[in-house]
Amino acid sequence: MDYQKILDTIFDEMSYRDVNGKVASYIPELAKVDRKKFGMHVYCGDEKHFCFGDSEELFSIQSISKVFTLSMAMRLMGESLWDRVSVEPSGDPFNSLTQLEYEHGIPRNPFINAGALVISDILVDQLEDPKQELLDFVRKITGNPDIDYDEKVAQSEKANGYRNIALVNYIKALGNIKSDVDPIVDFYFYQCSLKMSCKELAQAFMIFANKGRILSTGEKILKPKSVKRINALMQTCGFYDEAGEFSFQVGLPGKSGVGGGIVAIHPDNYSVAVWSPILNEKGNSELGMKALERFTTLTGVSVF
Ligand code: GLU
Repeated sequence: MDYQKILDTIFDEMSYRDVNGKVASYIPELAKVDRKKFGMHVYCGDEKHFCFGDSEELFSIQSISKVFTLSMAMRLMGESLWDRVSVEPSGDPFNSLTQLEYEHGIPRNPFINAGALVISDILVDQLEDPKQELLDFVRKITGNPDIDYDEKVAQSEKANGYRNIALVNYIKALGNIKSDVDPIVDFYFYQCSLKMSCKELAQAFMIFANKGRILSTGEKILKPKSVKRINALMQTCGFYDEAGEFSFQVGLPGKSGVGGGIVAIHPDNYSVAVWSPILNEKGNSELGMKALERFTTLTGVSVF
């Protein structure tokens, strides 16, 4: 398969001019991002990777970080994690509070904010220094010791995070949060602020394409069973309330974030990350989804 030729075709075919969505504006730091940015990176093996455009530029990975924290929580808790968070698509917006009450504070899945905040609670409760351990985890699976948080984005999230703070308080009232509210939301705001490039995201997500093994070292960091669970959740819940559309258009497990990044994987084959900050109405990268649709169409390789 000539992946580079396929990526070049996609880069020639489409640009930011073809889409008319908006860059995320709920915090000032994200609203400043240049809407012309567009990059894509594919990894098939340690030395086998392909790219175009702004694929090495750092951006705010936002909700993509939820896959990393879920992985860390699975390493700590194994299957008992599912007593605290469910595994069903929500059909409601990612920051919704409405389903929690009649589900006794058990969030629908780990990728809506309610679920990610319960995962934050688990990591804050069980780890000495969760912020450092998340950095260590991401640095290890990418092989890049320079990956870091964006302090300005984290502070901006904190200054505007009323809804997330409300969610933690509400879940605590319903009995599914153990730690204090402040350290949980602090950790969550920092995880959302992680800065990574498409290249680094594609490297990191090779653990999900590779049955839990780190691309560069071969070290097994997740059990194959955990990888199966995480990939299933990415397939069914990874795109806010547009997971059906993403499966329909692209046909890969993946995760998006409001920074405009999307990462997707094909088990045993490749990982692919794309970034364009222009979002559609559901909060997914508009150009990113189009690029991935072309990618699985031109390669003929999707999970379906
Ligand atoms: N920081 C965002 C929030 O919690 C996450 C946005 C996202 O879904 O990427 O509101």
